[in-house]
Amino acid sequence: MSKEFDVVVIGAGPGGYIAAIRAAQLGKTVACIEKWKNPAGTLKLGGTCLNVGCIPSKALLASSEEFENASHHLADHGISVENVSVDISKMMGRKDGIVEKMTKGIEFLFRKNKITWLKGHGKFTGKTDAGVQIEVSGEGEGGASSEVVTAKNVIIATGSKARHLPGIPVDNKLIADNEGALSFDTAPKKLAVIGAGVIGLELGSVWRRLGADVTVLEALPEFLGAADQALAKEAAKQFKKQGLDIHVGVKVGEVKTSENGVTIAYTDKDGNAQTLEADRLIVSVGRVPNTDNLGLEAIGLKANERGFIDVDDHCATAVPNVYAIGDVVRGPMLAHKAEDEGVLVAEVIDGQKPHIDYNCIPWVIYTEPEIAWVGKTEQQLKAEGREIKTGQFPFMANGRALGINKADGFVKMIADAKTDELLGVHIISANASDLIAEAVVAMEFKAASEDIGRICHPHPSLSEVMREAALAVDKRALNM
Ligand code: FAD
Ligand code: NAD
Repeated sequence: MSKEFDVVVIGAGPGGYIAAIRAAQLGKTVACIEKWKNPAGTLKLGGTCLNVGCIPSKALLASSEEFENASHHLADHGISVENVSVDISKMMGRKDGIVEKMTKGIEFLFRKNKITWLKGHGKFTGKTDAGVQIEVSGEGEGGASSEVVTAKNVIIATGSKARHLPGIPVDNKLIADNEGALSFDTAPKKLAVIGAGVIGLELGSVWRRLGADVTVLEALPEFLGAADQALAKEAAKQFKKQGLDIHVGVKVGEVKTSENGVTIAYTDKDGNAQTLEADRLIVSVGRVPNTDNLGLEAIGLKANERGFIDVDDHCATAVPNVYAIGDVVRGPMLAHKAEDEGVLVAEVIDGQKPHIDYNCIPWVIYTEPEIAWVGKTEQQLKAEGREIKTGQFPFMANGRALGINKADGFVKMIADAKTDELLGVHIISANASDLIAEAVVAMEFKAASEDIGRICHPHPSLSEVMREAALAVDKRALNM
């Protein structure tokens, strides 16, 4: 007799582990299948986000920012620090310690919520009257093992992996994807990055702060095309000032490796052949969904032409009682989007009627300054023919921003020209990741810009710029 569960989740990233916890809170019997092993060969929960994504990248961003501040910015405060040096292996140790703490935390949450962790690779084998059959193979406590479990409901949360480019083999030493780039043992002198997306900018920033000359090669003609162009323009200006050398509109050609490094041939935006020499190369050109060897066909499912699993607004697949969430389905590849879908599906299985407004999912790029937005950009709204009004306010005019020496950037709010409903909020500044939360709440509650303009904000704080930008929509900013 195979083990039976109300809910089996495949994948324990932020989508899967949150879905498992919510389903357990709602009284279901829950198992979660996960096969991730860290470099030491230990099985780990937490998926991409905790092991090789959000958490380690933010740890390194914080460490490298401290180094940059000590090296260059403490002098502005009248503090002199001599002989600032960096111990990369200690920095990596701190990052690994945070990852260990967080992944162990999920193990604790699984025990607390009585969730069974089935260790190994999950693969559909068929359907019976009792439910969906899934084979779990590979990583049992006693070595290789295989068992089949039965699930009344299945949540596919298998996430994504780095997309690699043909002819550019990733060895995670000379040529790295996110996994290698989070674990370099030394700071490269010259670092090349292919792809000026979120990972390229975040990890490019980490290694630039730690001493690398960083050149980023981006295929698209426009920098940060998904962001509001006012933000993209300001970001390009700030990154240039910091020394990130970003080339857009390039076509990457042959990549050769030698003992000393990497040579990248490319054509620049004017069609000229160029060569870039670097000690190391990061390839950050997007991610692809994990659907390989999942046995989808055994239950009558298949991935679409882009490799994603098609789902409806409630993350239901074409097969009854089988759901899919997170990076393996449409929508932004973001941890908080995966988490929200995990909660949603657990509640749907429980018979509730939850809803996600995908327009209210915030984006954050954790560079310096941070870039964050929610809702639509001015360019999107104009393309839709919406009548809008905008308000912008700079951090330069904010006392707290000056006090903490982080006066770059601005908040831009976009509202409907007639109703004043907020349609998009775009921030480039220190702590934009925290500031954007106010805009998300406002947009979820369908607030007008006037609502934010009327609400008391603490003084002195960066959040006052949110209020001033809201007032600026009505051309009545107070401190400008
Ligand atoms: P994943 O986290 O990818 O987890 C899927 C899990 O499923 C994995 O553990 C995998 O081992 C397991 N799995 C797959 N197939 C099987 C199988 N057949 N059987 C058993 N187990 C299986 N997002 C943010 O919101 N903020 C950030 O700051 C951020 N930073 C990032 C930085 C980097 C460097 C990267 C790479 C990503 C970052 N992301 C960030 C994106 C975020 O990590 C993903 O959107 C998120 O992890 C998706 O969650 P998920 O649960 O869908 O999948
Ligand atoms: P991305 O989609 O953000 O950026 C990839 C970039 O590579 C794009 O600008 C694309 O035009 C470019 N590109 C693609 N092919 C190319 C080629 N052949 N030559 C040159 N440029 C090329 O992808 P990413 O940076 O790899 O990150 C993957 C995903 O992980 C992100 O989309 C995001 O969803 C998630 N992520 C989120 C965060 C965050 O929330 N702070 C951080 C890191 C990653």
